[in-house]
Amino acid sequence: MTRQGIEGVRAGGPGDAVCGVVPAHAARPRDVDELAGLLAEATRNGWSVAARGGGTALDWGGRPTSVDLLVDTGALNRIDHDPGDLVAEVGAGTPVAELAAVLAKAGQRLSVDPVRAGGTVGGLLATGLSGPRRLLTGALRSLVIGMTVVRPDGVVARSGGRVVKNVAGYDLAKLHVGGYGTLGVIASAAFRLHPLPPALRLIELPLPSLAHAERRLTLLRASHAVPAAVEIDWPVEGGSRLRVVLEGTPEGVRSRADELVAALARGLPAEEVTVGDALPPGWGLLPAEGTLVRLSVPPAQAPAAAARAAELGGAVDTDVRTTGSARTGALVVAVPPGARASAVTVLLEGLRSHSGWAATVVRAEEHLHTAGIDLWGEVPGLAVMRAVRDAMDPDRRMAPGRFVTDAPHTPREERP
Ligand SMILES: Cc1cc2nc3c(=O)[nH]c(=O)nc-3n(C[C@H](O)[C@H](O)[C@H](O)COP(=O)(O)OP(=O)(O)OC[C@H]3O[C@@H](n4cnc5c(N)ncnc54)[C@H](O)[C@@H]3O)c2cc1C
Repeated sequence: MTRQGIEGVRAGGPGDAVCGVVPAHAARPRDVDELAGLLAEATRNGWSVAARGGGTALDWGGRPTSVDLLVDTGALNRIDHDPGDLVAEVGAGTPVAELAAVLAKAGQRLSVDPVRAGGTVGGLLATGLSGPRRLLTGALRSLVIGMTVVRPDGVVARSGGRVVKNVAGYDLAKLHVGGYGTLGVIASAAFRLHPLPPALRLIELPLPSLAHAERRLTLLRASHAVPAAVEIDWPVEGGSRLRVVLEGTPEGVRSRADELVAALARGLPAEEVTVGDALPPGWGLLPAEGTLVRLSVPPAQAPAAAARAAELGGAVDTDVRTTGSARTGALVVAVPPGARASAVTVLLEGLRSHSGWAATVVRAEEHLHTAGIDLWGEVPGLAVMRAVRDAMDPDRRMAPGRFVTDAPHTPREERP
């Protein structure tokens, strides 16, 4: 079908809605050339554009102020794996789970933790979150070695390449990681991969108090165990836990685990420290409902930040739960569905008042958008980010309103 002369574009409907905004048009390009043609046509028509992969995180970020064209990346699904070089080039619409299954057959992996079923590589990159394993292999952006992006004007831009030691030119790919599709539509990305470790150990223990948690993390920092993940789980009602993941050869993880358990278990009843050889169900996944606040703090302050979030949540009768990496300081505070806007504001203001802590709402429930809560807080380098946005998308047609660059912003000293 053609609509306004553009092949493959159909009328949008409620099933295409992005964060409640129903697009006037929708299209599913079959390859990068079709995608480029679509964006060029959108430019001629002055249309605003949003991309959709699996649609599992369309409610992340700000609510778009307008979506004239929804681009469904589902057909950009291809995996070009080079096991010898430990790299893969992957279409943006490829489900992350499908990629993991293909790589696993060759004993390799893209070192990200599981994402919600249906999530695509493009969505993973655009939302830019990294899971527990970022501790060992780096954040998602450091695994990207190249990217093909279609710019808002329809020009295909390639950066980086398919070799790990690629240092030519500006590393433009990094701009798109966590950019929520506001700088262009990602068509494909090349990643460096890691071998699948043959063995794993999960050490789990309770954290009865903040002092106890800080002591355990000091012991961990002093050890030679080189964990792949160090996760805290801090619910408001108590019962906090620490989970340490070790990966490597069977003999290696066994001896590292023995050493670590001996150090960490001091002062705890022996039966409270458990050692397993598999990750628990739902590992790394965030709650499917409610509001999510990304909390970045200096690593040594991670337990204090989790405890403070619990304290603030308790003060406003809201069962918040903080999880995340106690060694990188990348935490997520999950706020249960239906929390009052006033309670979320108390939580955000309380966390943001600490120097060096940044609290960003990555997913807000509908009523919080309506209440106009400040999703972003103070964002360092915002002026530079806005300049990049203006240079790459001067008319702000790509997912307008989605990212901090489009948010109304009042410097802290000018706030009432
Ligand atoms: C360890 C880990 C755990 C996670 N857990 C969860 C979780 O539990 N729940 C959850 O919702 N998310 C989670 N995420 C975030 C994760 O990135 C997304 O869920 C998922 O991968 C998004 O994929 P999607 O295809 O469904 O994206 P969509 O929902 O389709 O899109 C998400 C955003 O990305 C933009 N986008 C999508 N594709 C492109 C593209 N090709 N180019 C430009 N912009 C694009 C969209 O416009 C939208 O703003 C997790 C991430 C990690 C690393």
